[in-house]
Amino acid sequence: MDLIDNLANAFAGKEVEKVPAASIVSVALMEGMEKTGAGFPESHTNAEKMVALGESAHKYAGVESINLPFDLAIEAEAMGCTVDLRDANEHIPEITASPFFDDLSGVELCDDFLSNGRIPVVAEACQIAREKYPDVPLISGQIGPFTLLGQIVGIEYLMKCLATNPNEVKVAVNKCADAVIEVVKAYNELDVQGDCMYEPSIAADLLPPEMFDEIVKYPLKRIADAADFNIVLHVCGDTTPILEHTLDLGYNGFSFEDCVNVKEANKIKYDLKSNTQLVGNVATDSLFKGDFESIREESFRALDRGIDILGSSCCVPPGTPLKAMEVLVKARDEYYELGKQETRFKNEKALSWTPSYIDVPLPVANCHNMPEHEERKIKI
Ligand SMILES: [Zn+2]
Repeated sequence: MDLIDNLANAFAGKEVEKVPAASIVSVALMEGMEKTGAGFPESHTNAEKMVALGESAHKYAGVESINLPFDLAIEAEAMGCTVDLRDANEHIPEITASPFFDDLSGVELCDDFLSNGRIPVVAEACQIAREKYPDVPLISGQIGPFTLLGQIVGIEYLMKCLATNPNEVKVAVNKCADAVIEVVKAYNELDVQGDCMYEPSIAADLLPPEMFDEIVKYPLKRIADAADFNIVLHVCGDTTPILEHTLDLGYNGFSFEDCVNVKEANKIKYDLKSNTQLVGNVATDSLFKGDFESIREESFRALDRGIDILGSSCCVPPGTPLKAMEVLVKARDEYYELGKQETRFKNEKALSWTPSYIDVPLPVANCHNMPEHEERKIKI
């Protein structure tokens, strides 16, 4: 199977040989670090080691992609924040100080942003990986603008400002989007086949869904428009209340967790006539525990319900066994060997399935230009 073509077809909504088992979210595992000698923190700062770790899930577990980088502090660091890379394999870098803390109006993008911090290391790693593995999809990643803003001004302060001064928040989110667009433009030159934009802080429990359009719709669209490659938006948690928004922003994919019903997401995608493909959503918990039977069942279920790219529901925890990722890839193979794709085709064709949720109209909506909005609940 041509992995690059197969993934490109999945993103284009075309027929695929098999649904790709390419990881869109980060998959940097401790077992991979041990096998390659590329542990944390060196693999955050050394391009060769970043590639060695990034390729390990492909090399040892058959995952149909190479993913890098492995942390969400790169853009904040390049904007002038201090980052503690930490010294253990299971820990990811942390932002320890920011020049913008508690100061929304001070957020600015420095002129040398792209040459700061570890951004050049990521660019170098992308080039090395592309040359070393010309036949394997390379998946890059960066933070989303609202999450970046929370990192640099402090998330509690940002939440307070959302209530008291949403206009200033809007301006600052757009400045952070400018930073993300700089990174995206750099990736445009690097021949990546996919990219994950991690935007955990726009989850409904942090950003109220009724503020989605007003605060983040425009900056998120700007970023999707700037990407010449397949860009995927990833949001953590239960994103069911914001599916109508996230599937309507022009992203090539939306990556979501196992608490979201793929069938429900597919129905919304269909209603919106969206070209955003569904990505995920095997539970990180099953992967981390190495619960092989659950991984197999969840993979089958996601495939039945129309997932377009099969992978983990969120970043794969470093302590996950490589074998768990291998089981996910093999479950996808077994699904086809058993001819179960017929179920998938039937469901995809007839989006007349009786949805497994009840439509409940929202009681109030302060919708400036929001489309008609319905809250959907999953029937237990
Ligand atoms: Zn997540």
